[in-house]
Amino acid sequence: MTQEKYDLVVLGGGISGYSAAIRAAQLGKKVAIVEKAELGGTCLHKGCIPTKSFLKSADTYQLIQHADAYGISTSTPSFNFSKVQERKQRIVDTMHNGLQMLIKQKKIDVFNGTGRLLGPSIFSPQSGTVSVTYDNGESELLTNDYVLIATGSSPATLPFLQIDHQRVVTSDDLLAMSTLPDSITIIGAGVIGLEFASFFSQVGVDVHVIEAAENIRINNSDAVSQQLLKSLSARGVTFHTGIALNDDNISVSDTNVTFDLDTTITTDMALVAIGRRPNISDLGLSNTEVVVTAQQTIEVNEFMQTKAPHIYASGDVIGHLQLAHVGAKEGVIAVEHMFQHNPIAIDYNMMPKCIYTTPEVAAIGLSAETAKAQGYDVKTVKAAFQMNGKAMIMSPHTPEGFAELVIDQANGTIIGANLIGQNVTEQINELSVLQFLNGSALELGMATHAHPSMSELLMELGLKYENQAIHL
Ligand SMILES: Cc1cc2nc3c(=O)[nH]c(=O)nc-3n(C[C@H](O)[C@H](O)[C@H](O)COP(=O)(O)OP(=O)(O)OC[C@H]3O[C@@H](n4cnc5c(N)ncnc54)[C@H](O)[C@@H]3O)c2cc1C
Repeated sequence: MTQEKYDLVVLGGGISGYSAAIRAAQLGKKVAIVEKAELGGTCLHKGCIPTKSFLKSADTYQLIQHADAYGISTSTPSFNFSKVQERKQRIVDTMHNGLQMLIKQKKIDVFNGTGRLLGPSIFSPQSGTVSVTYDNGESELLTNDYVLIATGSSPATLPFLQIDHQRVVTSDDLLAMSTLPDSITIIGAGVIGLEFASFFSQVGVDVHVIEAAENIRINNSDAVSQQLLKSLSARGVTFHTGIALNDDNISVSDTNVTFDLDTTITTDMALVAIGRRPNISDLGLSNTEVVVTAQQTIEVNEFMQTKAPHIYASGDVIGHLQLAHVGAKEGVIAVEHMFQHNPIAIDYNMMPKCIYTTPEVAAIGLSAETAKAQGYDVKTVKAAFQMNGKAMIMSPHTPEGFAELVIDQANGTIIGANLIGQNVTEQINELSVLQFLNGSALELGMATHAHPSMSELLMELGLKYENQAIHL
């Protein structure tokens, strides 16, 4: 069956795809989303939201264990993982229902099947008609003026280590597990690996992290990397760096996974967290002029347009910065470009990058190291959160972490920031606004910040650049 022609068909109902669909509906367009699983995609069901719910439970558990430091006596707390799972699922389900209502309100048609692009045919002289196949084997065609490919990504795997979903798992498996392991080895010290390391170490699981690189570099900052590794190590995470894993040094049994390195590590399970690969297979791309890069991402221009001018792509499938808010932004830019709404091209330097470990990590723009390498004459101003009253109040002991601003000495504008500490994933948004407005260190310093607040430290850093800080 062929439906009435759509202005836009979006392949994939994750955050990039549904944000694009909603923006197109706002512009008065007739829009369809083809989604083979659930609206909300990775972020809502297997990524941002469920992991942060886990991390909040673990953080609360830690806080209660430190209750004494706040003058509160408690009995020994216990971590009830099935209740933690229930809470996570409740949050996900509530948000999923809200999203479904939103999509319905916007009168966006949702086709719950697998989409594939067709070449030119009797239905359309241009490539890009979407064929939707349903679980029952039936299919239908969606003709359109434009297509947005937003099919996301899936966990990357190692060729010599089969994911069995019991002993060797991905992040998807961990989010669905019913009991906690006693011990785990995490392969890969990227964002996902480190967030799980933080979670497990906070709830008493013995954690090893194996990383291929000699040095773990977080957000391109040595200082942030050192601080985070120190904090995680202090909570019992053991790091093994510069390790080349292969067939010979891993063995999997029914009960555990063993790594034969300089020392032998045996843990209940292993998490493979070595990155995500774009979902591009079986999309029918060869029926179109869409170009796939050597990294197996879809090639797009600054407005998310592929080499086929009526086909756009956004989100994890283009692989620029695999973050939810970046995917959402890319989707909106794609739609505004296809419907002549003159979007501002995306500037990846303006995208906040956060890690929700304890302590949290957040960055925007250039690190001092990168800025210098790019020829900027920069000055960095830095201060520890232990200088800040609110941070002292919030933390059970001496507050961890620091904030650092990277300032272009040519004009005083802030071109980067690196933060590590409590709640910095909220504070970074202030710097995002400031960077968007081309704000300077002086402007940040002149804007009065409420006292006591952790972001006062940012104000003080702005003033420090001008030699006007009161407390630093
Ligand atoms: C464990 C984990 C934690 C994360 N935490 C964060 C975080 O805290 N903050 C952050 O910014 N990012 C985080 N991310 C990354 C974030 O989830 C992704 O960047 C984001 O979900 C990408 O959105 P997307 O719309 O491009 O793709 P997806 O969300 O993957 O959506 C793609 C959708 O397309 C569907 N699909 C695929 N192929 C087809 C097809 N042929 N036909 C129909 N449908 C199809 C899929 O079912 C899926 O629903 C995390 C990721 C993981 C795995």
